[in-house]
Amino acid sequence: MTLNHSITHSLGDGDGDVESTLPGISEGEIVVLRSKRRKKSISAYRQGGRIIISIPARMSKADERSVIPEMIAKIRAQEADESPSETILLDRVTQLLDLYAPEITQRPQSINWRAMRERWGSCTSVDATIRISDRLKGAPAYALDYVLFHEAIHLHHFDHGPEFKAVLARFPEEGRAEAYLEGFEAAERRYMPPTVLPGAQVL
Ligand SMILES: [Zn+2]
Repeated sequence: MTLNHSITHSLGDGDGDVESTLPGISEGEIVVLRSKRRKKSISAYRQGGRIIISIPARMSKADERSVIPEMIAKIRAQEADESPSETILLDRVTQLLDLYAPEITQRPQSINWRAMRERWGSCTSVDATIRISDRLKGAPAYALDYVLFHEAIHLHHFDHGPEFKAVLARFPEEGRAEAYLEGFEAAERRYMPPTVLPGAQVL
């Protein structure tokens, strides 16, 4: 990847009065790039698990501080439009279990989107709560379904033993979904390792 940015400065660099983490933002989620090519425009986009915000190199720190939360809010709002609500996710889990694992009668109490960069989902069987990585917002249905189904099986099978695997293998697009998730992770590693962006502050 070619990074068309000169990174000359980063948010919170130096003067110590900027919060290192913004509310609702997980560590490493926001990367601010200062671009000499940019005159006025600001862009923000999701890349893998991160939000990349590109601003003009000359922008003042005060402007930067006010503009970044706006851009984050914008991205979040777009994603909220694209991502299924918790109710839809709960319905989907019920459908998946009815279809592929009718012997599992447990149902999740709640499903929440969560900023998780190391995992695709998690299931806490004690209180039957499922969390899904927000990296799956906007993912193709088969990939999201696969992760939902995986976590839902954990309501009954707590580990990844042979019984768990046998149930998971009933998901018809397991191979395709695995390939999607692996490709996503490979792209994250390839394009956005933090070491590639010296000077870009990772919040
Ligand atoms: Zn698992």
